[in-house]
Amino acid sequence: LTIGVPKEVWKNEKRVAITPAVTEIFLKKGFTVNIEENAGSLAKFRNEDYERSGAKLVNNEKVFNSDIILKVRQPLVEEVPSFKDGSMLISFLYPAQNVDLVKKLGDKRITAFAMDCVPRITRAQVFDALSSMANISGYRAVIEAANHYPKFLSGQITAAGKVPPSKVLIIGGGVAGLAAIGQAKSMGAIVRAFDTRSVVKEEVESLGAQFLTVNIEEEGGDAEGYSKEMSKAFIEAEHALFAKQCKEIDIIISTALIPGRKAPILILKEHIKSMKPGSVVVDLAAEAGGNIETTRPGEIYTFNDVTHVGLTDFPSLLPTQSSTLYANNISKFLLSIGEQNHFYIDLENEIVRGSIILDNGKLVWPPPKPVGP
Ligand code: NAD
Repeated sequence: LTIGVPKEVWKNEKRVAITPAVTEIFLKKGFTVNIEENAGSLAKFRNEDYERSGAKLVNNEKVFNSDIILKVRQPLVEEVPSFKDGSMLISFLYPAQNVDLVKKLGDKRITAFAMDCVPRITRAQVFDALSSMANISGYRAVIEAANHYPKFLSGQITAAGKVPPSKVLIIGGGVAGLAAIGQAKSMGAIVRAFDTRSVVKEEVESLGAQFLTVNIEEEGGDAEGYSKEMSKAFIEAEHALFAKQCKEIDIIISTALIPGRKAPILILKEHIKSMKPGSVVVDLAAEAGGNIETTRPGEIYTFNDVTHVGLTDFPSLLPTQSSTLYANNISKFLLSIGEQNHFYIDLENEIVRGSIILDNGKLVWPPPKPVGP
């Protein structure tokens, strides 16, 4: 079987689905690898490095002639005609948001797997690209904030005067939030964090941050541990908490998301107006609408002397790192489905069943809910 890796065409996308190291693994397993010329160049993987690993450098038409297409972003609708009928696609796909694309892939009898639908279970952690990309986003959010913040993050005692440490608030303690806490702590800031899921408290505290609370009993995690939409009263309690925090905090990194929903608005315009001049807010939920009322998705701008970072392509800001981790996730995922000549899609396998969207063109997503005991 041949694996094809096209150059990503999404605006500002710098990642590539596989690295030269992963190419070697596929070759050892008996696959042929076709990589589009310059597919890795923005992630700093050179054509000659792929060739040395045994890949064939091909043009866009030839790449799509492969049996299995590995991508980072979902294909553009205009790319679908290039796919070989009956081939396989593995990439981020977000099927709920891309109904038309999925239909068009179905018309070409594609078997499609969505990396964003891999179940978040322990056994599937090695394939969990959402987590590896969220980890990068959390780290980079702090670097971005520090870059725009006009002071030190750490406290210092210098001959020219004493500098207090900056105060960072992290909203949402999932994978990105925890990575941001670790990074902000390592740079010497005082870190506070909030999440609706009670299990997060321990993780936040183990990283040396303070866990904030509201005076209302409501659990934010569902039976499977995923976050759920909170009541109006809870969101109002959060607004009251953040109204107080905003008067003291120098940097906010918001990461609060609810799978498949618009992000909750947790920081209001009036809160931003109460922040000190020079403060920075980074809204990692920008692509899902944002947690901060004044976020402009995709933009960095200043409102009321508060720098707003609403970028939606954080993993692409560290393209070598993100491509390396994504390549590990996607290659292990593909090899877990089958090896050369042993391809068999096992719909009884929870990971396969959760992430398969199209089976030979037939829509098989969403998967049936597991039957309880
Ligand atoms: P996410 O990106 O979907 O959301 C980020 C965080 O925002 C979550 O912690 C969520 O609780 C929080 N949040 C939602 N609404 C909020 C609000 N109103 N105020 C404050 N915080 C709010 O989360 P994720 O990092 O992708 O993780 C998703 C889930 O999957 C989590 O429950 C996580 O524990 C779980 N997970 C499990 C594994 C595993 O292998 N077992 C791996 C990764 C993630």
